[in-house]
Amino acid sequence: MYKKLIFELDRGEVEQNYFSELDVPEEELEDLLPPSALRREPIGLPEVAENEVIRHFIALSTLNYHVDKGIYPLGSCTMKYNPKVNEDTSALPGFAGLHPLQPEESVQGALQLMYELQELLKEIVGMRAITLQPAAGAHGELTGCLMIRKYHKVRGQARNTMLVPDSAHGTNPASVTIAGMKTLEVKSDDRGLVDLDDLKAKLGPDVAGLMLTNPSTLGIFEENILEISELVHEAGGLMYMDGANLNALLGIVRPGDLGFDVLHINLHKTFSVPHGGGGPGSGPVAVSERLKDFLPVPIVSRHEDKYFWDYEIPHSIGKMLTFWGNFAALVRAYTYIRMHGAEGLRRIAETAILNANYLLKRLEGALELPFPTRPMHEFVLSAHSLMKETGVKTLDIAKRLLDFGVHAPTIYFPLVVKEALMIEPTESESKAMLDYFATTLRHIVQEAKEDPQLLKEAPHATPVGRLNELKANKELVVRWHNK
Ligand SMILES: *Cc1c(COP(=O)(O)O)cnc(C)c1O
Repeated sequence: MYKKLIFELDRGEVEQNYFSELDVPEEELEDLLPPSALRREPIGLPEVAENEVIRHFIALSTLNYHVDKGIYPLGSCTMKYNPKVNEDTSALPGFAGLHPLQPEESVQGALQLMYELQELLKEIVGMRAITLQPAAGAHGELTGCLMIRKYHKVRGQARNTMLVPDSAHGTNPASVTIAGMKTLEVKSDDRGLVDLDDLKAKLGPDVAGLMLTNPSTLGIFEENILEISELVHEAGGLMYMDGANLNALLGIVRPGDLGFDVLHINLHKTFSVPHGGGGPGSGPVAVSERLKDFLPVPIVSRHEDKYFWDYEIPHSIGKMLTFWGNFAALVRAYTYIRMHGAEGLRRIAETAILNANYLLKRLEGALELPFPTRPMHEFVLSAHSLMKETGVKTLDIAKRLLDFGVHAPTIYFPLVVKEALMIEPTESESKAMLDYFATTLRHIVQEAKEDPQLLKEAPHATPVGRLNELKANKELVVRWHNK
């Protein structure tokens, strides 16, 4: 029964007895609304009793895996527990009931929150100015790339190439392309760091900048970062930091001190805004002195006691989103930052790093560690040898994990690692959960050697078995046909 659509639970007429008898004259809809506003056919909503609706959706919510159900160690995504107090604050009527076109005087509280969040984020990352507008990390990348491009244009320079390391997230080259520039790949060395010789060879008069993730998608801190920043700046380029992994740096390192000119912050990763399923996220972009005159308009500024939308940005790239950003996401991130305070933020980073290193130690020998450097908040293992030995692929391991009530890590990313499993426990998992994850993964590696077929057909205990992922993409059905 719980595998049915709500439409299939339709019982035709369900008697409802909530409303008392009409005590006013009954009016025909036709007398009240113009014909264009009238529905010609019934809308076809299912008729089900209240308890059936509730049971249906509660059952659905438990069929699906989510971060409120168990560990979600997706590397690069920082799927941490989302404190429920965030939901209380973002649902406060004074916030949730706002209209984006309300006059400034009537939204001073919301503007104050945005202003304070701007200040907090600037302090955390050590940057000069910030926009809260972008709707996600990738949108922040586009914002940053457009600013870099305009910066060079205003200075009369034809720089159109962004350098991007081969370990980068796919959104990096995509954002560069959408911003109208070209990507040139920089190689990683055998420790997973930027290959300095390759970087030097590629720096030139057409280079607009370097886009770097730090710590990298391999979970490794870029130890030559100061030298890299200097090289890029000397060559006339700007430094973009993909801040998706900021969780590992909170209270320890400020990207501004590493020479970056612009970075995006994924509030839905580092600052506990729920994500997955497409958002809504939020990707504020912070900039150094060099780029502060290029930010999207408006930002929130303060004059004496009054907060206002500030459009006075001389070389602004314009607007990046309708209205002001995903406001409810901003309230959640603000809540998280204020609940933890400066000390708490540092402990978040330290605990995330400790958890990742503990987990890596517990997994030692089970799978390969292709870049054997001490990681930060995440690490990447490879099942390549296991595959050669047993025929079991990373995908099979990921599917089998589901049978044990564990979400799979990120797989097949970063591309520089064959049969990759990218694991990020975050700070919010207990030692007991980390132990369970490690024991489970070790058990599965053992199974691969003894009964590879069991893994190839996994999962066995989930509501649906192995899906044909290609078919779902090629034959997308998103509409319910009632007839
Ligand atoms: C998640 C992520 C992005 C993209 O961010 P979205 O908020 O999903 O658009 C970019 N780079 C890295 C390294 C990421 O992990």
